[in-house]
Amino acid sequence: MTADGFDAVVVGAGPNGLVAAVTLATAGRRVLLVEAADRVGGALRSQELTLPGFRHDVGATALPLALASRAFRELGLTGDELRWAHPPVPVAHPLDGRDAVLVHRDVEVTARGLGRDGGSWRGLVGATARAGPPLVDTLLSPLGVPSAPLAAVRYGLTGALPATWLGRAAFRTVAGRAVFAGMAAHSVLDLRQPITAGYGMLLAALAHAVGWPVVQGGSQHLADALAARLERLGGELRTGTTVTSLDELPAAPIVVLDLTPRQVLAVAGHRLPDRYRRRLERFRYGPGVFKLDWALDGPVPWADPRVGQAGTVHLGGTLEEVAAGERDVARGRHPDRPYVLCVQPTVPDPSRAPAGKHVLWAYCHVPNGSTRDQTEVIEAQLERFAPGFRERVLARHALAPKALEAFDANLVGGDIGGGAADLRQFATRPVAALRPWATPVPGLFIGSSSTPPGGGVHGMGGWHAARLALRR
Ligand SMILES: Cc1cc2nc3c(=O)[nH]c(=O)nc-3n(C[C@H](O)[C@H](O)[C@H](O)COP(=O)(O)OP(=O)(O)OC[C@H]3O[C@@H](n4cnc5c(N)ncnc54)[C@H](O)[C@@H]3O)c2cc1C
Repeated sequence: MTADGFDAVVVGAGPNGLVAAVTLATAGRRVLLVEAADRVGGALRSQELTLPGFRHDVGATALPLALASRAFRELGLTGDELRWAHPPVPVAHPLDGRDAVLVHRDVEVTARGLGRDGGSWRGLVGATARAGPPLVDTLLSPLGVPSAPLAAVRYGLTGALPATWLGRAAFRTVAGRAVFAGMAAHSVLDLRQPITAGYGMLLAALAHAVGWPVVQGGSQHLADALAARLERLGGELRTGTTVTSLDELPAAPIVVLDLTPRQVLAVAGHRLPDRYRRRLERFRYGPGVFKLDWALDGPVPWADPRVGQAGTVHLGGTLEEVAAGERDVARGRHPDRPYVLCVQPTVPDPSRAPAGKHVLWAYCHVPNGSTRDQTEVIEAQLERFAPGFRERVLARHALAPKALEAFDANLVGGDIGGGAADLRQFATRPVAALRPWATPVPGLFIGSSSTPPGGGVHGMGGWHAARLALRR
């Protein structure tokens, strides 16, 4: 690459890299965004993985964090750039031999469905949802000045607990405990660990506060909208260019890496002081996922048909079963009946498949770098709550951890969260520092999901890195 007067170079065009690039360009900087893949988006890309006409999100689909995050609110993507599609029910959690639990947009409707546990849902999840954007901003900027200090303290008192404790203490029914565990298991942590309750409360609250929408036409459209915005602001995009060393980049006063510590070390290690390099080497990755995408010739035949209205479905039964599965994974084992996170994109957005057909995806957590084929156990969980599911399958496509990492180098060992997000590494990622987006090298910043606030499509890692770069 030639030096041609860029003020900032961003490496990696995942949601964090794209947000960083647009934030810098909006501030008037001339930005170059370099991406290894042929298309922008990172884990937001969409492809026809199974059959022609079936459009699958390879990674993220349910995007409540994007809708709620300050970074995306400030970008103010218009209806011309992007359309959201909301499922009638954000989340469902089927149970054996009884009605599924439905998390509706409305707190009251959800609470009524939970019977004896309705009051706890209102008190815990409803209160978090009511605290609204100021609380979400505080949680997605965990090292900043809280914009909702009281709500944050209230949330923190219960959110700091292990999900198993809070689930059992706050809820009395099988349904209430199960739905809470299903939310908390998004943390990809042993649910007996601290702060897992907090993940559950936030994600459940977002279902009420903003919904769990998908992007009309596929998540790729969100990435493309950001890339188009960048280009309109005068930014330049180079796809199909894997950066192996900072020395390959044009000289620029600001470099933001949308990379996880392993790649930061590979690309920039020779410029980093020894001490910082050793700290990055100690960064811990979390478990991986094994993902399946299906083309279906009709909707999933859920035993409780109301589950067919949900965008996201948590499969794994009771709190005890979900917790046991996550505990096994944390110990490096493959549970027989894992917690399975399943997304039905064509429920809110039928445009992703030919008329009357559907796309569906599901993953289960596995030990980092696992090579075991999980197709059977995932499909068994679907058959358990949707007998006859396999008869609807027209085609399937599997993504084991290694394949995920080949698709996007940030998905190290199949870890989709950019590193373990336990108490120790939640805010101290990639290293413990007041401003963890900055490195000791002047002008060099990290903005990936390996920085606070961590995994998920919210763009906040890139936003923090870009703003810090602009301030400095
Ligand atoms: C299967 C799956 C399902 C998910 N589901 C959801 C969901 O429903 N909702 C949600 O909010 N989140 C979900 N996530 C998580 C979410 O997608 C990630 O947390 C998010 O994409 C992280 O953004 P990022 O920009 O930090 O990194 P990434 O999106 O991983 O992007 C990193 C980019 O950097 C590029 N890159 C890497 N190395 C180099 C290099 N050396 N040179 C140039 N470019 C490089 C990669 O090609 C990639 O484009 C899911 C992820 C996966 C994989």
